Amino acid sequence: MAMEITAEAEALRQDILSKLTYEVGGRAERASARDWFLAATLATRDRIVDRWRASNDETVAQGHKRVCYLSMEFLIGRLLSDALGNLGLTEAMRQALDGVGVDLEEVCAQEPDAALGNGGLGRLAACFMESMASIGIPAVGYGIRYENGLFRQLIQDGRQMEVPEDWLSLGNPWEFERSGITYDIGFGGHVVRRPDGGLVWHPGEVVRAIAYDTPVVGWRGHWVNTLRLWSARATDPLHLDAFNSGDHVGAQLTRMQAEAISRVLYPGDENAAGQELRLRQEYFFASASLQDLIQRHLRLYGDIATLAEKVAVQLNDTHPAIGVAELMRLLVDVQGVEWDRAWDIARATFSYTNHTLMPEALESWPVALMERLLPRNMQIIYLINARHLEKARQQGANDALLSAVSLIDEHHGRRVRMGHLAFVGSHKINGVSALHTGLMRSTVFAELDRVCPGRITNKTNGITFRRWLMRANPGLTSLIVETIGPRVLDEPERLADLAPYARDAAFQRAFAAQRRKAKESLTRLVRARTGVMLDPASLFDVQVKRIHEYKRQLLNILHTVALYNSMRAQPMGSWVPQTKIFAGKAAPSYHQAKLIIRLANDVGKVINSDPTVRDLLRVVFIPNYNVTLAESIMPAADLSEQISTAGLEASGTGNMKFALNGALTIGTLDGANIEISERVGLENIFIFGLRASEAGPLRRDGYDARAAVAGNDELRGVLDAIASGVFSPEEPDRYRALVEGLLAHDNFLVTADFASYVATQRQVAQRWGQPAEWWRSAVLNTANVAWFSSDRTIREYADEIWDLPVR
Ligand SMILES: *Cc1c(COP(=O)(O)O)cnc(C)c1O
Repeated sequence: MAMEITAEAEALRQDILSKLTYEVGGRAERASARDWFLAATLATRDRIVDRWRASNDETVAQGHKRVCYLSMEFLIGRLLSDALGNLGLTEAMRQALDGVGVDLEEVCAQEPDAALGNGGLGRLAACFMESMASIGIPAVGYGIRYENGLFRQLIQDGRQMEVPEDWLSLGNPWEFERSGITYDIGFGGHVVRRPDGGLVWHPGEVVRAIAYDTPVVGWRGHWVNTLRLWSARATDPLHLDAFNSGDHVGAQLTRMQAEAISRVLYPGDENAAGQELRLRQEYFFASASLQDLIQRHLRLYGDIATLAEKVAVQLNDTHPAIGVAELMRLLVDVQGVEWDRAWDIARATFSYTNHTLMPEALESWPVALMERLLPRNMQIIYLINARHLEKARQQGANDALLSAVSLIDEHHGRRVRMGHLAFVGSHKINGVSALHTGLMRSTVFAELDRVCPGRITNKTNGITFRRWLMRANPGLTSLIVETIGPRVLDEPERLADLAPYARDAAFQRAFAAQRRKAKESLTRLVRARTGVMLDPASLFDVQVKRIHEYKRQLLNILHTVALYNSMRAQPMGSWVPQTKIFAGKAAPSYHQAKLIIRLANDVGKVINSDPTVRDLLRVVFIPNYNVTLAESIMPAADLSEQISTAGLEASGTGNMKFALNGALTIGTLDGANIEISERVGLENIFIFGLRASEAGPLRRDGYDARAAVAGNDELRGVLDAIASGVFSPEEPDRYRALVEGLLAHDNFLVTADFASYVATQRQVAQRWGQPAEWWRSAVLNTANVAWFSSDRTIREYADEIWDLPVR
């Protein structure tokens, strides 16, 4: 390369070579891509550490309030390209690696995807961490350092197979093990009364939590926060007593039992052992995090009474809700704070984000399990409940209301309602989109809202544009910067300046050219991973997200089959060539979701090998959806499928990533789709189907799918084809039960929305046939979704929940 290497790049190059030699133990002439990745990451990390320390020092010196974001999941994905981008070092690193004959992209591709989460909830936590660092809000994310994150998905013969994701197997160059930061976490045992009347818990078992810290660099590297993940260790790893007494295996088992806590994300919870492990995980990380933040507070400020002035603890869903009882235990039993004072501190400290209204997803734990595993915490929950119910009674609550607001559900074998515990113990409770918050207020928390009014607030989710636009779509980012200037990189609101270009033919061409490049690149990826050849000129119609019945991948598959049937009936018709792209994981024990994956694959297999539709329709299921794959898919999507049953998707964030990259949405009026439609305008989004206000009652009162199917020939043809084995000729009955189930109880109203969905898909195809109109809408999507930046969301949390000054 003729370009002169900058001083910054030269310094990086030397550091990388030094890291390679002295840390990785490699030689430049024989180093693997993985070795270069380690060396490049260590060199990058060195450029973060001083800023990290400075952020910490400033927080301490100024006595800043700090956000502690407690989340069972952090779906952070890869970090190297993100850190380089935020530090402004991408080009220097490219040059530095060029200088040693290595390609930056190849090096970045060596990094395993840190899949410490499932989907939206975990990705939200990751976007929030990045935004807090970018805005300069002092924060620590607390979670679990799972040795195996979410499984890696393989597709074999169309079926999902799960294999462990060994993201730590080659070492993690980002993390710092803090062997000095450990806390003991108790389980089981019993509670005894001390001579002074106080209660102490004597756990039967103690597990040690060890901190691992990863720096989270904000935009332009001005501020660096910490992601602190806890790993479980046996307190007595050798279990010498047992070992010496000859029980060698028993000694090992005790250790494995302790360390199982940080082994996997989502232990299978179909059996009691799996459920218990999950509760252990929740208590483990909640307790370690609270002990940690209390210790820090006492070290810095010396007075537990001021805790809530210096710390805001956000509970990301109910997984850390046991923290409410745990903080009370630490304050009352350990710090000796009087109960009422402790309760005021706890309520001022905690706030809670609800992520779902679906009854089966609302967490509750059997009282008996709690009593056995966490006896003191269970007592405290009873004490909290007694005071809470007494207050409600004084306000005139009747028995029905008391039973509805009680922390104990007496109807299902006595269970602790974790959402209620989180609600009662928090000063603010937020939903994640306007619709979701409204429904929360009128359904799950309606009674609690009466008894504890004024706590519910909305904070519509957001995404970090650094990752989801600048890094995922550098081509489009360059075009945007060339067109409206670089300020947009710091002020996402400036995206609105693109709107005047929406009708500009030259700009539309440039915008479409970027899309085309991204589609070509995705086409290569799909071919390499699946062997399926896509046509980048076709309309890329994309549904990627967790596979779940409420997200209705099935509806999309039914449309695919309908399209296939129509194309076969009229192969010479004027069809829009279309590519249906699916990706997503199903929970390992969720059989129906796995069957839907298989159906998508089977439908693809038949359609892709049918010469009559060769140039018209392709279907592909890309295996192992994760953050890195999402970064390749979002820029390549023309159409974003957001088609959940209205009222069931709390917010969605995939919808925001697509719209930001200029895809048009086909969606129901659900979650944040509603707010997206308000911002991009109804003429630039394809809305269909039942509203939440219609779907809710229909689901409750029983909806008759058979009538809908009988009245729709197209739908009947589709279901007949699937049920009779057109897509599973080797096993014709494979999908019979699925179709019959749909007819008998269509819980998610797939058949109810089918006609509207198909008609709206026809409008999509028509719009695609008018490129000037299509690209105008696409540009207006990008221009009008700046509000969905997680920087905006975080500023709202800071202002209205955490009581933090926003800089
Ligand atoms: C954004 C994202 C999600 C959430 O997608 P939804 O469409 O909102 O469900 C899930 N998984 C990954 C990897 C993501 O990046």
